[in-house]
Amino acid sequence: MNLIEQFDGIIFDLDGVLYLGSKPAPHAAEAFGTITLPVMFLTNNASRSADEVVAQLASVGITGHPEEVLSSAMVAVHMAEERFPGGKVLPIAGPGVMAALKDANLIPVHSADDAPDVVVHGFYPEVGWKDLSEAALAIERGAAYIASNLDATLPMERGFMVGQGSLVRAVENATGVKAASGGKPEPEIFRTATKHLGATAPGAVGDRLNTDVRGANAAEIPSCHVLTGVNSARDVVLAVPEERPHYLLVDLRELNAPYRAPVRDADGAWSAAGARASVNDAGVPTVTVDGMPVGADAPIPVTAYRALAKAAWEAVDRGLPRETLASHLPEFTVVSPCD
Ligand SMILES: [Mg+2]
Repeated sequence: MNLIEQFDGIIFDLDGVLYLGSKPAPHAAEAFGTITLPVMFLTNNASRSADEVVAQLASVGITGHPEEVLSSAMVAVHMAEERFPGGKVLPIAGPGVMAALKDANLIPVHSADDAPDVVVHGFYPEVGWKDLSEAALAIERGAAYIASNLDATLPMERGFMVGQGSLVRAVENATGVKAASGGKPEPEIFRTATKHLGATAPGAVGDRLNTDVRGANAAEIPSCHVLTGVNSARDVVLAVPEERPHYLLVDLRELNAPYRAPVRDADGAWSAAGARASVNDAGVPTVTVDGMPVGADAPIPVTAYRALAKAAWEAVDRGLPRETLASHLPEFTVVSPCD
């Protein structure tokens, strides 16, 4: 049975999974083209419309539809609507939130003086001091505060810019009120996506441990991690419990392959398909393939990577400091079974 057959819908992260900025992600388009399950595309970027996301997917050879795009802006509006049906909302946001508000059972207002029930704060580069102050004023007078996401930084072509979460922090700092969030890693966006899919056994695919994997885990949706984006195989092996993926993949092609999960041997090592891994009490990992030790900088098969992750997670959960394991674990390369 192929991994994908365990699911009845798939929730995809975008950057690092389906594309890399303006470039295609390795093997993503070919693998995605074979998927017949319902899919949802999740994004924490509240400033882009669904049509813009679909256009970016099309530019790397992936066919998506606007109704398959779920942004943190849409989830933030949905959360506001659920808490204050028919209520007044002060949007501090750009087109993403404004488009979501069009269909919402909420009355948009423009000033704290209009006594809004809730402030919905989405990312938009034009948002400035006046807008943040208006939000703070409304919140001080009792309005709830919901943000599209809490990402501290916004990765762009030139590097990391000030993200939505840093703007939210300014309002939080002024008011002492913490924002609720419609974005990853909060589980709400994954639950909303599951509803849209009509799925009872969805899976989620992402490249970031602290957003995609943490959020899917919090929503109790099996998380699949791919190595085409931000977090490396070493990061996965060193992951904290809340950020450990259920399924360790190299790239999207392995959705269409059987998943060889490692099993624990009597001596405490983990093994899968001839690969074996263990971590001793000093935090030193050992990996063998067909009985042969693997050198520190040699690429390892995905089965060895999965066995190593299991052995490492177990050792850390037993009390081995992650820093000790980290000091014995260089970055390493994983070979896909589909190569
Ligand atoms: Mg990503």
